[in-house]
Amino acid sequence: MCLFCDIVEGKIPSTKVYENDYVLCFNDINPVAPVHVLVVPKKHFANMNELASDPEGALYSAEITKAVAEVAKIKGIEGAYRTINNCGEGAGQTVMHVHFHVIGGVELTERLI
Ligand code: 5GP
Ligand code: ZN
Repeated sequence: MCLFCDIVEGKIPSTKVYENDYVLCFNDINPVAPVHVLVVPKKHFANMNELASDPEGALYSAEITKAVAEVAKIKGIEGAYRTINNCGEGAGQTVMHVHFHVIGGVELTERLI
């Protein structure tokens, strides 16, 4: 069982921000900023490494990139936002379906963490 596969399939509700054939983007349930959206590929990849090595990884990576920019535009933060991917438990990844956090609507400094 995978939480984000269940959300992609509509078995678990989410607040959708943007969707196309490749990605579902929805509000994080525990936002750390006024805008905190998760960009999730509709195909299951466990993490960034699996996304990079999969035959369809390049396609999905390109679609994720476009979706990140689209989400920023929809939320009106296209001038200032941060995109984060946690890869591996040691980096804080808690859902083992690759996803990208789009964070903004708050002052972001040059500090990464
Ligand atoms: P990670 O720590 O794996 O990089 O990020 C997982 C994110 O998923 C967390 O920010 C967490 O708040 C979010 N999350 C966990 N469960 C749910 C859920 O059921 N619905 C939504 N919308 N977000 C979730
Ligand atoms: Zn999954």
